[in-house]
Amino acid sequence: MSTFQAPKGTYDLTPPRSATFLAVREAISAPLRDSGYGYIETPGFENVELFARGVGESTDIVTKEMYTLTTKGGDQLALRPEGTASVLRAALEANLHKAGNLPVKLWYSGSYYRYERPQAGRYRHFSQVGAEAIGTEDPALDAELIILADQAYRSLGLRQFRILLNSLGDKECRPVYREALQTFLRDLDLDEETRRRIEINPLRVLDDKRADVQKQLTDAPKLRDYLCDACKAYHEEVRALLTAAGVVFEDDEKLVRGLDYYTRTTFEFVHDGLGSQSAVGGGGRYDGLSEMIGGPELPSVGWALGVDRTVLALEAEGVELDLPATTSVYAVPLGEEARRVLFGVVTELRRAGIAADFAFGGRGLKGAMKSANRSGARYTLVAGERDLAEGVVQLKDMESGEQSAVPLAEAAAELAKRLG
Ligand code: AMP
Repeated sequence: MSTFQAPKGTYDLTPPRSATFLAVREAISAPLRDSGYGYIETPGFENVELFARGVGESTDIVTKEMYTLTTKGGDQLALRPEGTASVLRAALEANLHKAGNLPVKLWYSGSYYRYERPQAGRYRHFSQVGAEAIGTEDPALDAELIILADQAYRSLGLRQFRILLNSLGDKECRPVYREALQTFLRDLDLDEETRRRIEINPLRVLDDKRADVQKQLTDAPKLRDYLCDACKAYHEEVRALLTAAGVVFEDDEKLVRGLDYYTRTTFEFVHDGLGSQSAVGGGGRYDGLSEMIGGPELPSVGWALGVDRTVLALEAEGVELDLPATTSVYAVPLGEEARRVLFGVVTELRRAGIAADFAFGGRGLKGAMKSANRSGARYTLVAGERDLAEGVVQLKDMESGEQSAVPLAEAAAELAKRLG
């Protein structure tokens, strides 16, 4: 293994592709920031117990995929595999829910870690932007989050995504369904591990991707037939609000998602250009999670969108984001004296808020102009000894190719004017 190789299942973000990742994070969070969601940041690791209780002992995430470690002090920690449990923990710790302003609306962005088998679109380190609305039960809140995710994807130019929607019922009706499902599943021809899953979390068997399992599930009892009236009414309201907002969704009664804590509304954003790892984002309501981690009753709803897969989705659709060049002015000094003078101009430009860069390393004109081109700068400033003797710099418009001499003392002001 080369010493320059990132660990298995991970990759580095380097320019220029990294700019797309920043833009995606920005685009996903913008609708949240405009809708009353405040930014929250939590540690990259938590006590392992938080996830064991909060994500669920029966999930793959907790049983197989968590990076756990014991510190020198003996603490059992885990790198965070997802965001919701941490955000809820932090909100409870800071008593945000007691400030009398429910729901507590939060958004976050960061790295997550799962020890999964790496493949295209599935990594051991990945990046999410997420949102949580804590402490309120209101179908409009579920609808808001789905609408905002839809808006985010559309603002990026994505079109080939679909929204899958389901209701998982609540603590009244879900247990009844769970039992009916268990009774049905116990009679099927399934392997040991799946049989164990029937006893711990039978709904997840419905999520099994294997064709031979899916074939046996055709006549499985449907959750829809077991939803209580309150859950049905709630779900209908979410659907009506989405429809009124012009957000297209598909009812998918097989959608259960991999985490234990979901109740009622559950949804996933899938992209058809991504192959097997087609989920670009997902979320739902988690009314029981707060109590599961030892907090008060706080019905909540949230989602997380995968940044890596969103970038892959953009690439699959051939969407090129309109990323403005980061450098507006590139300075090319020819000779020692010009170096000092132009470095001064670059500093002045930067202080005036104009993005400027400089040909470092005393390079020749040809090489330096190549760098200027590559930087995407609209203007270059070139100065040699003769220019300085005349008190001017050469200002070149890289778009039109036009070049003119500008008095040195006016160079920064002239550029500011031209760049508007
Ligand atoms: P989940 O918490 O599993 O619903 O994940 C939410 C979103 O995070 C998914 O829809 C993916 O976009 C992304 N995601 C989850 N796991 C991975 C992974 N191993 N690699 C890349 N993205 C992931």
